Amino acid sequence: MKLSHFPRVRLAHLPTAIEHLPRLSAHLGGPEIWIKRDDCTGLSTGGNKTRKLEFLMAEAGVAGADIVLTQGATQSNHARQTAAAAAKLGMDCHILLEDRTGSNDINYNQNGNVLLDHLHGASTEKRPSGGDLNAELEVVAEDFRAKGRKPYCIPGGGSNTTGALGYVNAALETVTQLNDSGLDIDHFVTATGSAGTQSGLICGLQLINAHLPLLGIGVRAPQAKQEENVYNLACATAERLGVAGGVPRASVVANCDYIGEGYGLPAPSTLEAIDIFARYEGILLDPVYSAKGGAGLIDLVRQKHFRKGQNILFLHTGGAIALTGYLNYFQ
Ligand SMILES: *Cc1c(COP(=O)(O)O)cnc(C)c1O
Repeated sequence: MKLSHFPRVRLAHLPTAIEHLPRLSAHLGGPEIWIKRDDCTGLSTGGNKTRKLEFLMAEAGVAGADIVLTQGATQSNHARQTAAAAAKLGMDCHILLEDRTGSNDINYNQNGNVLLDHLHGASTEKRPSGGDLNAELEVVAEDFRAKGRKPYCIPGGGSNTTGALGYVNAALETVTQLNDSGLDIDHFVTATGSAGTQSGLICGLQLINAHLPLLGIGVRAPQAKQEENVYNLACATAERLGVAGGVPRASVVANCDYIGEGYGLPAPSTLEAIDIFARYEGILLDPVYSAKGGAGLIDLVRQKHFRKGQNILFLHTGGAIALTGYLNYFQ
């Protein structure tokens, strides 16, 4: 397997740091909690999409694209980072924003990631929730082709086998850091949504036989659906990389008990996680993904699923700029 076979543009500040969270660990009174700072990848306030975009934007370049098209929820971090990557590489960017929450709130619709999409020069159009947005992207791409443009479509969340390569690489990076520092992690935890992050990590961990169990905390789909999505993308990515024996189904584990009322709607446990991480460690989680992951982490410590004597590594996937789109939850 050679990751260097795949075209890649450098967009992220790598490697991202792994830090101890002593005050959070003491507050919860369970395992030692560590954090991998993929919120600090450097591109337009950072986040996990930067690693995926290193491979996706390179593929767009090889394809000769002059405009990238993508889609996401109104406060999509993926949309914002794609807009920033396109700006940096001198391409245009057009985004379909799906109204998944039905919110009329001005901050939700104009602040946070939406503000940044536009600052990076992307054009956006709204779509009602429930359609097949990746299929609609293809329709929009045809319109651009008819106008003589060369569009390149990036699926929601950047989650295809190309985007997942960013997290294959992140798994190799993380295990190297742990080996170098002699840190023995018992469990790796991440928020999981469009599945590229978890799928890429599973492939990378499998590839190097890391024996590091990974738990995805779901933000949208029910558990069976989430695990199926992750497994399918992990298998496809493993095949593309030639991972011998593929990925075991048992390595795909999602817990979807912390979604609350739905995608993009913070639950009380989400807001509590934001509060605890901010007050005990000076770390900002986001209300859609990392705080639902954080809420799962906190609850699994309280339930003694993660126990004293263990070391738990939480992947901070970024997104805190969306807090300003959710001001009404903090008043
Ligand atoms: C997109 C995103 C995730 C989820 O990653 P997927 O690869 O879509 O599963 C987690 N956290 C943040 C902040 C994100 O923007």
